[in-house]
Amino acid sequence: MTQTAEHPPPHLPEATAWQPVDGLPVAPAAVVWRRLRRAGREHGWTLAGVVGLYGVAALSALVAPWALGRVIDTVRADGPTGSVDLLALAIVGSLLVNAAFVLVSVALSIRFGEGVLAELREEFVHDVLRLPLGTVERAGTGDLVARTGRDIGHLSHAVRHSVPLMMVSAVTVVVVVSAIGVVHPMLLLAMTPSVLVLWVSTRWYVRRAPDGYVRELAAYSDLTQGVTDAVEGARTIEALGRQARQVALNDRRVHRAYLAERYTLWLRTVWYPPLEFSYQFPVAVTLLVAGALHVNGAISVGAIATAVFLSSQLARPVEKLIDEIDSVMMGFTSLRRLLGVGLTGEEAPAPTGAPASGADPGTVEVEGVRFAYTDTEVLHGVDLVVRPGERLAVVGPSGAGKSTLGKLVAGIHPPTSGGVRVGGVELTGLPPEERRRRAILLSQESHVFRGSVAENLSLARDGEEVDEDALWKALAAVDADTWVRALPDGLATRVGSGNTTLDPSHVQQLALARLVLADPEVLVLDEATSLIDPRSARHLERSLGGVLAGRTVVAIAHRLHTAHDADRIAVVEEGRISELGTHDELLARGGAYAELWRAWHGG
Ligand code: ADP
Repeated sequence: MTQTAEHPPPHLPEATAWQPVDGLPVAPAAVVWRRLRRAGREHGWTLAGVVGLYGVAALSALVAPWALGRVIDTVRADGPTGSVDLLALAIVGSLLVNAAFVLVSVALSIRFGEGVLAELREEFVHDVLRLPLGTVERAGTGDLVARTGRDIGHLSHAVRHSVPLMMVSAVTVVVVVSAIGVVHPMLLLAMTPSVLVLWVSTRWYVRRAPDGYVRELAAYSDLTQGVTDAVEGARTIEALGRQARQVALNDRRVHRAYLAERYTLWLRTVWYPPLEFSYQFPVAVTLLVAGALHVNGAISVGAIATAVFLSSQLARPVEKLIDEIDSVMMGFTSLRRLLGVGLTGEEAPAPTGAPASGADPGTVEVEGVRFAYTDTEVLHGVDLVVRPGERLAVVGPSGAGKSTLGKLVAGIHPPTSGGVRVGGVELTGLPPEERRRRAILLSQESHVFRGSVAENLSLARDGEEVDEDALWKALAAVDADTWVRALPDGLATRVGSGNTTLDPSHVQQLALARLVLADPEVLVLDEATSLIDPRSARHLERSLGGVLAGRTVVAIAHRLHTAHDADRIAVVEEGRISELGTHDELLARGGAYAELWRAWHGG
């Protein structure tokens, strides 16, 4: 290889220049340090205990080299006397003491590591659950999947394995080097060349590796995202005949991941040879220096043996120390990505400052709302007031912005400008659980989670205990109590993947019962009609009636007959409300709605 360590091979800079697009944020290193300092403060005593015990273990390991030196000197001076046996016993005893201390300290450090890891995982799950939907949509679920999978994996490895190992190794190195210094300070000189080589090469590596790893992990996120997209959209891709393009796209992602990984691999290939040299070199130099010291009468032959033995004891911990730097850096980078998810929460938009209007609960006030998912504005200034208990149908051509308006009313996305108030309170900036008490969006998607029927229902109350009476009442409100009673274990019956299978209309009823429990002031129904499976439509419509009673309802209507039943109708066209009134008023007006209605009725 002709290139120098300072210049990466020419085919690698692409990996350096490449940046992920629009992923979730990565926390700055300072945030990680702050979090680690907190862990240090909270677990300071355990940490001190671990280091202290390792210290004792390392000290006990010094007995063997020392005793061996003494045996050599005693035998040389007096022949095999009784004290040699005692020294041999001391060696055996020290090994046992060493094993005991290592055992206890490893157990303690595992407890420490698992504790910290559990906290970090819980925080991560908490952050993920608080992520605004818009952020996940923008970043793509693949990024989140990569963080939950690969990054948690790297972090676990670092915390469970690498950090404890580095701690043991660091303590051992300090103790052994001090012991060599005690044998004769000049022997420390033998370490200098290795220390220099280690210092220079590791510095070179550590300066480049973190960025390399950030890129490598981001490339994997992007790859996971690509595969997730392709799998989720497989039918569309096939329908449009874009398989070849998709394969080419994924090939490009694989290539980027390959380049990113190849770069870090290259860093390691440059770094490892000097490391190997620095592990092996000190033993030879120690022998040389100790020999010279002996010739000058400074130390005994036994002390030479002790020094060489000690310096050979250094190789393993130094090697471990260096080896683990890599996975600790990888873990650090992963932690930056995991903590980064929490930062999106901090970026959540501040309340727009619109004053509470003092309107009654259940009132929806949309004021001058504009909204853009990307650069193109989708809603261009929408004003709308829905009275408590009113049922408003939203109709209009596909792509006009009906669903978007529904999402804003439910507080899923904050408006780009303007304000959305429910019950007189601005939704933006409210904590998610408070927002859900005011408005909930029901889309056609309903999911049964693995767990009991009761747990599935309690989700609606953010997991808090809900008494059985309330659960049965909610089920009765949606006409679902009879079949739940007939299940083998009633409310305790386990459902979801791998358990009792529910038929689709029952799944939908559970979703509706959740809404009754969540008891929001305002309900936004998007494609609610497709929620209703035609075979059980009549039955489910009754269930839906139980949910809607007494609430303000904004229904995105895709079939006009639901619009006809509503109190008022809003027509959305090109991101604006073009007409607003009752069915009769709008028909009399002879505008867009009247036209739609005539088309629906065949003229
Ligand atoms: P409707 O419900 O009336 O069919 P939507 O509110 O779904 O209309 O969409 C309005 C516009 O916003 C469309 O042009 C659509 O392509 C765009 N849009 C909808 N959802 C997203 C999204 N998640 N990201 C980017 N653009 C979107």
